[in-house]
Amino acid sequence: MPNQHVPAPRHGELMLVATPIGNLSDLSPRACETLAGADLIACEDTRTTRTLLAAHGIATRTVALHAHNERAASDKLLEALLAGSRIALVSDAGTPAVSDPGALLVAAAHAAGVRVSTVPGPNAAIAAYAASGFLADRFLFAGFLPAAAAARRKVLAELDAGCPLILYEAPHRVLAAVEDLIAAYGTEREIVFARELTKKFEEVSRMRLADGPAWLAAHAHRQQGEFVLVLGPRPPVAPQEDTESERVLGILLAELPVSAAARAAARITGASKNALYARALALAEKSDEA
Ligand code: SAM
Repeated sequence: MPNQHVPAPRHGELMLVATPIGNLSDLSPRACETLAGADLIACEDTRTTRTLLAAHGIATRTVALHAHNERAASDKLLEALLAGSRIALVSDAGTPAVSDPGALLVAAAHAAGVRVSTVPGPNAAIAAYAASGFLADRFLFAGFLPAAAAARRKVLAELDAGCPLILYEAPHRVLAAVEDLIAAYGTEREIVFARELTKKFEEVSRMRLADGPAWLAAHAHRQQGEFVLVLGPRPPVAPQEDTESERVLGILLAELPVSAAARAAARITGASKNALYARALALAEKSDEA
């Protein structure tokens, strides 16, 4: 009997490839290899991706997968994956499927048993969080807030998880978003504006929320470009057990502004000034609400 060679069936693969968020040099060598070696690249805007591919001499065919055709395009791409195609998925910038189209196709690939792999790289949220310097064991990424003011405030009221909060925001809404953050969390929280990351006019600035509106208004360009907002964690509240310093603080708060009351209470009781300040803020907020 002749020794017949039967080729093994080719398995499809969906490869999530992160692309630059501004600086074209941030496309990794492995991302280049993956894009060049794929059968097809599914992209949000084929023109944007072709510009990137041309800059790296990559000629792979592209197809569109964007917010308006996501379901139909995902169905077609899944057929190709099941037929053995190796498909790279990219968005216009950063990591696909993170506040960008793609999750539908990824979920369909999992459900159909197609291998899903990643070529990680740029992501605006993670870059901004790392550059914020907020010390925390966890953070909350909430993507874009709703555009309508009432819905935005409702979401903010629900989001205060006590850890840093990362938000994407459109430049024309950034001032309104900061005002809503002040309304929801007070003026004393810290915020980091991470603007135009990896680009020529990159700015990362950390300040109290109270100073945010003035910072944004200080230069015409400050409300242009791309923004990530990172809100700092809730300040720690001093332990309740220290009843003596709590009692002294309560008396002083009735007569003095928050920072003066905290300073004086620290001198009288020997407790930590920072802890008393945080506690005084919490008490003042509580009495404002009452
Ligand atoms: N998938 C992308 C990622 O991995 O970061 C995010 C896409 S989302 C549609 C676009 C938003 O990301 C922008 O509105 C902005 O909030 C943020 N963003 C993207 N590039 C940025 C950059 N270079 N600097 C600051 N924020 C950026």
